[in-house]
Formats: sequence, C-alpha cells, structure tokens
Amino acid sequence: MKTAMDMDIQYLPGVGPKRAALLKSELEMETVGDLLHLYPFRYIDRSTVQRIAEVIPDQAFIQVRATVLKTRLSAKNGAEVPADKVKYNLVNRLSVIIGDDSGEMEVVFFKGIKWMHGRLVPGSTFLFFGKPQTFNGRINMVHPEVDAPDAVTAGVLTGVYTSTEKLKNSGITGKVMLKLMASALEVVLPSLQETLPGHILKEKGLVPLSYALRQIHFPIDQNALSKATYRLKFEELFYLQLSLLKQKYIRSRSEVGMVMPRVGEAFNACYRSLPYDLTGAQKRVIKEIREDLKSGHQMNRLLQGDVGSGKTMVAVLTALIAVGNGYQACIMAPTEVLAQQHFANISRYLVPTGVKCALLTGSTGAAARRDIHAGLEDGSIGILIGTHALIEDTVNYNALGLAIIDEQHRFGVDQRARLWNKGFQGVHPHVLVMTATPIPRTLAMTLYGDLDVSVIDEMPPGRKPVQTLCVGEGKRHAMHNFIRDEIRKGRQAFIVYPLIFESEKLDYKNLELGYEEIVKAFPLPDYKVAIVHGKQSNEEKNFNMEAFAAGRANILVSTTVIEVGVDVPNASVMVIESAERFGLSQLHQLRGRVGRGAERSYCILMKGQKVSRESQKRLDLMCATENGFEIAEEDMKMRGPGDLEGTQQSGLPITLNIASLARDGAILSDARTYAAHILELDPMLSAPRNAILAAELRKDKYAVKDYSQIS
Ligand code: ADP
Ligand code: MG
Repeated sequence: MKTAMDMDIQYLPGVGPKRAALLKSELEMETVGDLLHLYPFRYIDRSTVQRIAEVIPDQAFIQVRATVLKTRLSAKNGAEVPADKVKYNLVNRLSVIIGDDSGEMEVVFFKGIKWMHGRLVPGSTFLFFGKPQTFNGRINMVHPEVDAPDAVTAGVLTGVYTSTEKLKNSGITGKVMLKLMASALEVVLPSLQETLPGHILKEKGLVPLSYALRQIHFPIDQNALSKATYRLKFEELFYLQLSLLKQKYIRSRSEVGMVMPRVGEAFNACYRSLPYDLTGAQKRVIKEIREDLKSGHQMNRLLQGDVGSGKTMVAVLTALIAVGNGYQACIMAPTEVLAQQHFANISRYLVPTGVKCALLTGSTGAAARRDIHAGLEDGSIGILIGTHALIEDTVNYNALGLAIIDEQHRFGVDQRARLWNKGFQGVHPHVLVMTATPIPRTLAMTLYGDLDVSVIDEMPPGRKPVQTLCVGEGKRHAMHNFIRDEIRKGRQAFIVYPLIFESEKLDYKNLELGYEEIVKAFPLPDYKVAIVHGKQSNEEKNFNMEAFAAGRANILVSTTVIEVGVDVPNASVMVIESAERFGLSQLHQLRGRVGRGAERSYCILMKGQKVSRESQKRLDLMCATENGFEIAEEDMKMRGPGDLEGTQQSGLPITLNIASLARDGAILSDARTYAAHILELDPMLSAPRNAILAAELRKDKYAVKDYSQIS
C-alpha cells in the first residue's frame, strides 16, 4: 500500500523537479521516505553561549553573544576602503571586531557585505554562531550566522546532514535540508503507519515511530534523541535478524537433505588410528555435524576456528561419514598449494580406511583428469580434493553428498552456487564452510545469521604461544642474527612482504630488494633462501614452496600468498616487513603460520619510519594478544565492519542506516534473541498481532541475500 512515505520527492513542498533531480543524483533519494531516512550524523547544540575568552580554535561550533566594536572594509589588495564613500563593488572583505566582557575576536565576511555592514552597526549586540579557527595567531570566525541576541534556542539540538559540494553550491544547505525535513514530517506524520507491532513497543519500551522520526530530526533534548535513536536502531537490527532467522527456519523445514544415519566403518578406522586425541571442541563440533547429517534436512554449517585449531581433521571425519553412507564428498580449497597440502595430509589419514581420494586442480594433466572423471562417475573415488576445478561443468559425481569449502571468503557466491547444484538426484549436498578468519560475534550473527555456526574454541594441546615483538629499522641486523641462531638450531623462517595490490610495481620492487638483501645476508652454501610470489608460474611457486616445506630451504621470502593454510611445523620465525601496512586479521593469519611445531616460535613485526597512530595501535594489539576473536573485535572497532577481511566480497546482507555492528552489539544480541522468541511462537508470522512484521519483511529493504540458495 502506498503511503505519504512513498510520495515522489519532487512533490514535497520546497523541492520541485530541479532539487529532486539533485537529491536523486547526489543522495539517491527518490521518495519522501528516503529523505526522512537520512538521519543527522551529528547535532549542534545551540543552547549554550560561550564567553569569547573561553573559545578554543577548531571547536566544532560555538556561539557567542557580543557587541560590535569596529568594522573595517578592505579591497582586494588589503587597503582599507573608507566607509563614508563606500563603493561596495570594490570591497572584498568585511572584518568586524566583536567583544563581550571577557575579550574580543574577529568575524569575517566575503559575501553579502553590503547587507552585513548595514546590520552590524558598532554598539549593537548579536548572537554569532559559527566555527572558530586560528588566523594569524588570532581566533576568528568566517561567515558566522548572525541572530538577535535573545535568539538562544534553549535545549535545542540542530541536526547536521551529510551533504555534497554540488548540493551546497546549488543552495541545498544545512538550513534548507532542515526545512525539507520539517516539510516532510508535516506531510508524512498524519498518516504515518507504525512499523513495529504494539506488543513489541510495549515489551521493549520503545517510543512510537512518529515520535522517533520527529525527534531524530528535531530533538527537543538529549533524552528524547536517545530514545529516538534507540528505537530506530532496534528496529533496524530486529528486522535484519527476523528475516535471517525466518529464512533459516523455512529452509531447515523445507530443504530436504540426504540422510546419513551411520558414522560408518571408514570413520571408525580413521578415528582409531589417529595419532592424537581429538580436542573437546573438535569432538563437540563433529557431534553437531552428525546431528545435521542424520536429520534429513540439508546442512548449512559454518565452522569457525582459529588457525591451527584442527579444522582439517573435522573435515576428514565429516567426509568419511558421507562416504560411510554411500555418498561422495569434495573438499575445495582456494589455492593450488593448499589443495595439494590438504591432499597430502588427508591421504595419510585415509590409509587405514581404504577410501580412495584424488586431487583435481587447474594443473592436473589431461590423462589424470580423465581417470578422475571416470572414478567420480563410477563412484570409486570417495573424496575429491581440489581447487575451483572441482566445480567445473565437466565434473560429474556419482552421488555427491557433502561439500566442504575451506577458507570460504575466497569464494564468490556463484562458485558456491555451482557446488550446490552438483548434488544427488536434485538434492543439494550438505555444506560445511570452514573459515579461519575469526569474525566478531555481531558480524557473524549478521553475515551468517542464516547458517548454523560451530566454533572450535580450543587449541590442540602442547601449543606454545608465539612471542611477538615489534621493532624498527635499527633492529634489522639483530633480526638477521636472530634468524641465524634459529637456523643453527635447525629451524626455518618466513619473511613476508606486503603486497596489497598484486599489480603494484613498487611492492614487487620491495620484495625483490628484500630478497637480494636476504640472499646477501644468508649466502650459499650455508643458507638456502626460497622465494614465492604471485607473478611466478604455478610450477615455480610449488617448487619453491615444497623446497621450504621439505626443509631444503632455510628461509622463505614471500608475499602474502602463504597467508592461508600452509603448514610447515618446523618454521619458528615469522618476520613481517612493513607490518604497519597489513590489516589486523591478515597479521593474525600470517602469525598463525608459526607456532605449529613443538618449538618456541617468534613473530617479528618490522615497522617503517612513519607509522600512523592507528597503525601503531594495531601493532601494539598484535603484541598484546594471540586471541583471534579479540583481534577481530578490535579490528572491527577500528575499521568498521565493512572493511573487515572476509566481508568485502560477500558484503553485508543489508546496509545499515543507523545501527552499527561495531558499536551496537548489545542491541543486536537483544534484537536477535527477541526475533527468535517471536518466531518460536509464530514461525510464519501469521498471527494477527504480527501482521505488521510480515508486511514489513516483504519490503525490499529487508530482502536479505540468501547466500546458500543463490543459483
Ligand atoms: P587449521 O586448518 O584449523 O588451521 P589444521 O587442521 O591444519 O588446523 O591443524 C593444525 C595442526 O594440528 C596439524 O598439524 C594437525 O595434525 C594438528 N592437530 C589437529 N588436531 C589435533 C589434536 N586434537 N591434537 C593434536 N594435534 C592436532
Ligand atoms: Mg586449514
């Protein structure tokens, strides 16, 4: 049903076609509702009047009540233009000295000079409101607003809206924006429809929408503003969670899954021959997965676990359950190196089971590929490991029952969808997505709100903490000596260079220079240095990677291609060059490459000459904690959720207008619990009291992308 909110913005009094076109092109506004949903990003408090002596330059905005002491008109060249025979077209600047009982300051005008000069008669008193700045060592204000001395608007907060140069230049100033908002409220409020049911407002103590909208734009005081803000944030997060949870509920009821009731002989054989006990967390997660596989519904589970927490073992055992029930499983890794490493590790675990596994990547030869295709089609290959190659159209499975995706954020949505469609007899395979990028809880609830989430929150026993330190250029020599000592003890070292953009020439230059320097400092025949980067061919990369993994090279110089997954337990040192250029979670991932063996390990963050405060904070945090979740939380606070690694590609399911995942975690948790509670009582939202909820969810803005179902 159309309401005043849906009215085309050009018909709003004060807008018209010209302004409407501007608002559309600059702020993507089409309707009156769009306008009203642009909330002020801050508020100016005009209820206080400062004394001039207390004004500090670079304060946001100030207001003083002062008397005009002296005015001066000057020409372009700075010469004074006498006021008695003023030719205003010669005047370039009006400067006015104003004063109160505490001191004096200058205010300056470059426009509207004639009118201002006539108004600011010496001896008269006004309110001057503006942004103070320092000029020639003195405080002044350029183009302040000038009002009658008693115009103090007690208790009133004035909203400030995002704007653009173009809007300002076309006359849509902050003041005009406020007028448009007032006009929009007048049009909308009389017929405004509440967007939350009464019982929720009551139970959650929320203010009505009409109150919230008025107060967010024109707050009468701080308290009213807080109530309005809370209501709007709650609503936004609540609907986001409600739609995610509803989707999850519908899918878990409607999506048929292949039933896998047994654990099977292969599972047991592998389990019995494990060289270690599973951690409590690994056992718990496998149990959660088993329940899903038995249930008859399709599994869509996210497995989160820090680097080294033992996700591979969980993947293997899960794959073996599928095999034990007569299905096949595939494990997809983001890079060739990782796929190979998985294949090597997993093949070993599979020896006692007799299950056949194969490796399929872009570099698999034609003959081998033919054999693999045949083995998949006749079912003799139980587990296929590989890169994207395993979702190509030519790959046909006999009965794919389970797909495991490692480091999922490297995969696009369509790739996931292609995998889905390789199920068996039209049924989607069960899906287990594994990620080592710890995601803050609030973000996980949002990004993966429609998935079930398992967390491995316990490291295998015997891990020694990685000692992390951050040093400058002066310590480079000491760093080399330290690496020599470690190599003497039989250990190996990674040295990583930033390569944020693969195309950046400068980065490669740094890497090459760094490599030359290292080769000089660690010469043959005593030392062997390998190098890996994205410009090498796959063979070259693999050759060097393997040389290091097998211990034939002491040092591996590389770009971040080694970030994900690579396992060299004998490596005890991770040096990260220009560490200030890396994001927190990337640093964390890199550090996770060491500390995998029994030896004490070290991470040395080399920092450049100029490090911003923000970057230093990141480096300090790295030295202070090894907890990936803590690091992720901080990362989100510093950079905002949109920039977190792992979220760029997938993106947030909806754009938040007022709530923030970084700051409003408590409201989010509350909103999610509450949404779950409502769905529990009324899963399809068909009860009359929930009619508003059902109607709201049908709106476009709540059409959350469903990651698991896109095809
Ligand atoms: P992730 O993929 O989560 O980063 P991996 O599965 O590669 O971690 O495991 C890291 C290392 O820990 C591997 O060498 C693996 O053999 C070992 N590991 C896994 N689970 C256990 C366990 N329960 N006890 C001891 N070692 C384990
Ligand atoms: Mg792994």
